[in-house]
Amino acid sequence: MPETERERRVIDEVTKGLIIGGAVRDATEQKTFGVEDPSTGQILCDVADASPEDGMAALEAAHTAQPDWAAAAPRERGEILRRAFELITERADDIAMLMTLEMGKPLAESKAEITYAAEFFRWFSEEAVRISGEWKVNATGSGRVLVMRQPIGPCLLITPWNFPLAMGTRKIGPAIAAGCTMVIKPASLTPLTILKLADILAEAGLPDGVLNVVTTKSTGKVMGPLITDGRIRKLSFTGSTEIGQKLLQQASEQVLKTSMELGGNAPFVVCADADVDDAVQGAMLAKMRNIGEACTAANRFYVHADVAEEFTKKLTERMGDMKVGRGTEEGVEVGPLVEADQRDKVAELVDDAVQKGATVRTGGRIPSGQGYFYPPTVLSDVPTSARLAKEEIFGPVAPIFTFTEDDEAIRAANDTEFGLVSYLYTKDLSRAIRLSERLEAGMVGLNQGMVSNAGAPFGGWKQSGLGREGGSVGIDEYLEIKYVAMNV
Ligand code: NAP
Repeated sequence: MPETERERRVIDEVTKGLIIGGAVRDATEQKTFGVEDPSTGQILCDVADASPEDGMAALEAAHTAQPDWAAAAPRERGEILRRAFELITERADDIAMLMTLEMGKPLAESKAEITYAAEFFRWFSEEAVRISGEWKVNATGSGRVLVMRQPIGPCLLITPWNFPLAMGTRKIGPAIAAGCTMVIKPASLTPLTILKLADILAEAGLPDGVLNVVTTKSTGKVMGPLITDGRIRKLSFTGSTEIGQKLLQQASEQVLKTSMELGGNAPFVVCADADVDDAVQGAMLAKMRNIGEACTAANRFYVHADVAEEFTKKLTERMGDMKVGRGTEEGVEVGPLVEADQRDKVAELVDDAVQKGATVRTGGRIPSGQGYFYPPTVLSDVPTSARLAKEEIFGPVAPIFTFTEDDEAIRAANDTEFGLVSYLYTKDLSRAIRLSERLEAGMVGLNQGMVSNAGAPFGGWKQSGLGREGGSVGIDEYLEIKYVAMNV
């Protein structure tokens, strides 16, 4: 239940139905499901629970709207995004409250996400008018090569719960800019933020049917038929590698173009020559942003033996001082994890490491009381056999390993099937370049604990994904190339 008048208003104002072809409607047989506040375990409200027929109706709406939207002027598409950027920015306080209620993160974190999320609309509002092609004389001189880039067509966008707004705008922004229509399915744990965003986009002038929102608990049953329907031309997914792999199999049926932003297992390497205070500051950001529930979260800390104790002590002090509580409360820095399963998985990984010999420097125990809280935790002397050396923790736990040679650190950092991001702290420029080149990751945070930036290509190597979101290449994921051979 919302606990204050303001919380009630913010929840009441959200559309709770499916948004299909510009109309808000109930799901088949008026089925609904509850959205929980993870800090209390109480239901905030109910939203529509779509059936496979509802999913198909959303696809039909996107398919119908596609030709007109592809023909809309790039400037018009850009200006809708720009207006939406401004509306999100104006309403950041209310959106932050909504996001905190359904996801748990503190209000300050929700606001930071909103700034990041809105930037994708500003960035792609500028990219909409810069979609270019190519024109050249062919090698024999007798013909011409014309290369055009056209909207790929109706897209299916599936997003996770950890960044309920940004994971949506990172896909919706370039799709709108490119002239694609879409069906979006937000995570069933956090559907409210995307429903709110859809209202904002409608207010900004997005035509009916361009963005259709399907909320459902029968996710596989509703999404499966859409992925294999020939009218869908693109699947963009952010979520776990496990589900990504399943979707890739389904997508192979019609050789569907896919973008996959999947799991991570980021190493955070601190060399002996690093500025330890800077490294601790970066570690706090890389570990504790979003309560550790980020694909970019530092998962394994490799610290040179010469500075390991200093780094561990300082990090332990900072982590131990963080205020844990309901995200809506003043001064809270660490909210609950998103659900009981997530909290229990984190606890299980810590217990496994401790059983195998790790030392708990702070945290390490589920507190009593309501909500899915887990305290900021630092572990030292962690053996490499601990499960959290291999598995994505997705919680506020920092396991520290030590090394003595650069080669050893790089080998350990790369010893994972994931390759989303790596962090590296060193003051030596040559070492920084040498080691950055050897890290097997799509992104490197060099002397900084955060890489996310709407103007940069976000994405992973290995099992962390396919394609890039953001930057000047982000729009390419929503465009098809056509070459016209001209006989002149
Ligand atoms: P998830 O369980 O894979 O779910 C992600 C989305 O996929 C949700 O909307 C989910 O719907 C949907 N889904 C689940 N089963 C499906 C199916 N059979 N068919 C179609 N859709 C299905 O991931 P999560 O727990 O929400 O998110 C955490 C994961 O996302 C972590 O591994 C994290 O690293 C990754 N992530 C990656 C990035 C990146 O950019 N690389 C960014 C953020 C998060 P329901 O909610 O209804 O289950």
